[in-house]
Amino acid sequence: MKISLFSALKVAITYAVFAGAWILFSDMALRAVVDDIALLSQLQTFKGWFFVLVTSALLFVMVSRSVQTSEILNQFDPLTGLLNHYMFSTQLERKVTMRKPEQILVVIYLDIDHFSHLNRTLGFDEANQILTGFSRALKDHYSAHVLLGRFPPDQFAIAFLSDKTVGEVEAEIKGLRQMFDQYMYEQQVEVTCTLGIAMGPSDSRQAKGLMAAAGDALGHAKNRERNSVQFFNKQLSQLENQRQKLLGDLRRDLVANRLTMVYQPQYRLADKALTGVEALIRWNHDEHGFIPPDVFIPLAEENSISDEISRFVVHQVYKDLQQHRLLGNPIQRVSINISAVEFNSRMMLDALMLEIESLPSLKQWLQIEITETATLNNLVKSAANIKALKAEGLRFSVDDFGTGYTSLAMLKDLPIDEVKIDRSFINDMIHETKAKAIVEAIVGMTHGFGISIVAEGIENKEQLDLLNAMGCSEGQGYFLAKPLNIEQLTELVQGGS
Ligand code: C2E
Ligand code: CA
Ligand code: CA
Repeated sequence: MKISLFSALKVAITYAVFAGAWILFSDMALRAVVDDIALLSQLQTFKGWFFVLVTSALLFVMVSRSVQTSEILNQFDPLTGLLNHYMFSTQLERKVTMRKPEQILVVIYLDIDHFSHLNRTLGFDEANQILTGFSRALKDHYSAHVLLGRFPPDQFAIAFLSDKTVGEVEAEIKGLRQMFDQYMYEQQVEVTCTLGIAMGPSDSRQAKGLMAAAGDALGHAKNRERNSVQFFNKQLSQLENQRQKLLGDLRRDLVANRLTMVYQPQYRLADKALTGVEALIRWNHDEHGFIPPDVFIPLAEENSISDEISRFVVHQVYKDLQQHRLLGNPIQRVSINISAVEFNSRMMLDALMLEIESLPSLKQWLQIEITETATLNNLVKSAANIKALKAEGLRFSVDDFGTGYTSLAMLKDLPIDEVKIDRSFINDMIHETKAKAIVEAIVGMTHGFGISIVAEGIENKEQLDLLNAMGCSEGQGYFLAKPLNIEQLTELVQGGS
C-alpha cells in the first residue's frame, strides 16, 4: 500500500513540475522571440500538441517503471528474498521447457519440523532470523541456476536440472539435509526437517504436476515420520487419495447417522448367564459394502475424529437399548471401545463424559474399554485419567490384555475393573503350553487383585472348557454368541429369560 502510494505520488509530482516549468518557460521564450500575434497563436497551438505528446511519453515511461518495480517486489518472498510460490511455479515452467532429454528435473520441498514450536520457544523475531539465515545458507549451497523458493511459513522449495543419475541426485539430497543440520547446529537450535521429492519427467512432465507430486511426497513423509525423506510414489499417492475419499465418506455417513451398532453378549462361563454386552460399530458403505472397524477406526484416529465416533456410539447405544427396554434390566453392563487418542486427551475425555451425562441413567451401566497400548505412553497419567473418570461413576476395562509389555505393572498401578485376555492367547492356548501358562497366570493375578476377567474370542468348546477349568469367570466369542444387531439381541435376551 505504502509502495504503491509512493510510486503514484512520484509520478504526479514529476508531472506537475514538468508541466508547470513548460508552461512558464515556453510562453516566456515564445514571447521573447515572436512579435507577430497571428504567428504566436499558431505556435502556441503547436506547443500545446507538443506538450501533450511529450507528457504522454513521460507518463508511459514512469508508469511502466513503477509497474515493473511492483512486479519485481511481488516475485519474491519479502522475508528471505527467495521466490514466492507463484514465481517458483512460473520459473519451474521455464525449466520444464529447457530440460534436455537426458536431464532430470528435481523438485524438493523442505519442511521444517514443528516450526510452531520454534516460534513459541524463540519468539517470532528469532525464528524469522533462522529462516533468513537458512535461506542465505541455501543460496550459498546451490548455484545461481537453482530455483529457490519459500512458501510461508516454514517450507522451502528447491528445483534444478541435473545431468546426473537418480542415485547421484539422491546423494546430493543427503548433502542438503547435512547442510540443514549443520546450519541449525551452528544456530544452537534443535530442529529437524522433512523432505518431499519429485523428479521430472518420470513423476510429471509439467511444473504444476511436479510441484503437486513433491507436496504429496512431503505429506506422506510428515504423516509417516518426521525428519525423513520421501520420494514421490504414484501408488502411495493413489492409496492416499483412496484414504482421503474414505475419510470424507466416513464424515458424511457419521453426520447422516448411517453407521450402526452391534452387540456381542458376554457370559459367565460357569452357568452361561448373560453378564453384559460389548458394543461394536458397523459401517455399511453405499459403494464398498461392509468396511471393518479395523480399517476405519485407525483412519478416524489419524484424522482426529475418533471423538465424533464415540459421540455417535454413546448416543446410538443409548437409543437402541432404551428403545428395546434392555438398559439396566436385563443388560447390566455395556462396554464401549474408545481409541488411544481419546484416552490420552483430557479434553476429549471430558467431552465424552459430558456426552454420557447428557443421557439420563446411562452412566451406571457403562464400561469403557481401552487397549493396553493406549496406557503405555504414561502410566501415571493414565492412572490419573482412569481415577478421575471412575470418581464420576464409570467402569474401566483393559482390552487386548497381554499384547503390551507392561501388563504386570498395569495391574498394580491402574485402578481398573476388568481385563480382557486377548484372543490370540485363547486361540493359541490349546496347542501352546506357553500361551496356556500366560492365560493361567493372568487369571490367577486378576483374581488376586479383585479384577474381573473376560476371555475374548472363544471359538470352540475345547477353549471354553479349558477356560472354565482354569477358573476364568467370563467369556465372549463366536462360540457363545456373534455380535448381534439390536433386534437379534432383544430376541436373544427375551428368549433366554
Ligand atoms: P476389539 O475391541 O478387540 O473387539 C473384538 C473384535 O473381535 C470384534 O471385531 C469382534 O467382532 C471380534 N470377535 C468377537 N468374537 C470373536 C471370535 O470368536 N473370533 C474372532 N476371530 N473374532 C471375534 P470388530 O467388531 O471387527 O472390531 C474390531 C476392533 O475395532 C475392535 O477390537 C475395536 O478395537 C475396534 N472397534 C470396534 N468398534 C469400535 C467402536 O465403537 N469404537 C472404537 N473406538 N473402536 C471400535
Ligand atoms: Ca473391545
Ligand atoms: Ca479385544
